[in-house]
Amino acid sequence: MKTVDNYNFKGKKALVRVDFNVPLNALFTITDDTRMRAALPTINKILEDGGGVILMSHLGRPKDAPEEKYSLRHIVAHLSGLLGRPVTFAADCIGAAAKEGARNLKSGEVLLLENLRFHKQETAGTESFAQELASLGDVYVNDAFGTAHRAHASTTIVANFFPNDRVFGYVMANELASINKVLNSAEKPMTAIMGGAKVSGKILIIDKLLDKIDNLIIGGGMAYTFVKAQGGKVGSSLVEEDKLDIAIKILNDAKAKGVNIYIPVDTVVGDAFSNDANKQTVDIKNIPDGWMGLDIGPLTEKAYAEVISHSKTILWNGPMGVFEMNSFEHGTKAVAEAIVAATQKGAYSLIGGGDSVAAINKYGLGNDVSYVSTGGGALLEYIESGSLPGVDAIEKI
Ligand code: AMP
Repeated sequence: MKTVDNYNFKGKKALVRVDFNVPLNALFTITDDTRMRAALPTINKILEDGGGVILMSHLGRPKDAPEEKYSLRHIVAHLSGLLGRPVTFAADCIGAAAKEGARNLKSGEVLLLENLRFHKQETAGTESFAQELASLGDVYVNDAFGTAHRAHASTTIVANFFPNDRVFGYVMANELASINKVLNSAEKPMTAIMGGAKVSGKILIIDKLLDKIDNLIIGGGMAYTFVKAQGGKVGSSLVEEDKLDIAIKILNDAKAKGVNIYIPVDTVVGDAFSNDANKQTVDIKNIPDGWMGLDIGPLTEKAYAEVISHSKTILWNGPMGVFEMNSFEHGTKAVAEAIVAATQKGAYSLIGGGDSVAAINKYGLGNDVSYVSTGGGALLEYIESGSLPGVDAIEKI
């Protein structure tokens, strides 16, 4: 893998694609700077080599034109504080402002370009726009794993203009190392824990994983589709009627491939989709009418913790219940704790996909697992297809 470690940036201007798509409140204060902090090691390596850094990113979803609330200007001061040095800002990512900023950039200095998505050519992957970006730097570094599944100008097309000078930053390198460890050199037994709302978005991933794993644990809203497909009564739980046959196929495929598949046996049901709902724990195959399953029950928690404790490699995607509501978070928390315990015993654990990351962070356990992915969509697409446009663009000969 070609990373910033294999490149000497002395005297070079590095065009670095980062993911600074951070949440901002109404006063434009950053409410979570995890993504900015993640990029610091890459930026510092370039600066320590004696290079200059030109940072480019998107922020939010502007409608192909400048919008004040999506300006990266709002993050300049915070970035400067994190780096402990001044950061210059170019009011456009191409054109005169960007060219001048890049021309004046010296070794050890940092320039941040305005939001790439103020131009529709970014998401369209327009070659001439990518070429304008490329003209700003001598070497291209991609450190934006969160957008690596998009063939955008700054994540993919721009790499074509640096045939001999394109490398991965540390975020990308760490993400790829982690997922490759899980997919290609996992110590067995390997367990995948799949949860979240629906089975529909996860079918392809489950299909791919069945060839690699020993255990598949199912939780969250998707569990009720499996229960109903097997003839259970699920009350008013979330069910995808048009996916019942797929659920049966997954069960059959798992059996044929020797994968143990675990469906919840009990569930915490509520009489409304609300934290204040009345609740009770019932057999998951016999949910009373008018009640909906919103979490896994204690027997299931125990069984799942047991499987997890015997695993050497663990991939977790999706919560076990509606963990955002304290009344229905117990199962998700129990699974998070079981993963932490297994990790302490030597298992490798990768947490990926938006809501399981939010869950592990809610319980303050992000540092107690092996790796927390920064790019949910990119991670899942990499598992599904085995490649990503932003990765191929750096690696192709
Ligand atoms: P996903 O984006 O598919 O991973 O889904 C995550 C969402 O699924 C979270 O917001 C959870 O609240 C939700 N979820 C988990 N379990 C259930 C359930 N039993 N019923 C409805 N929604 C659920």
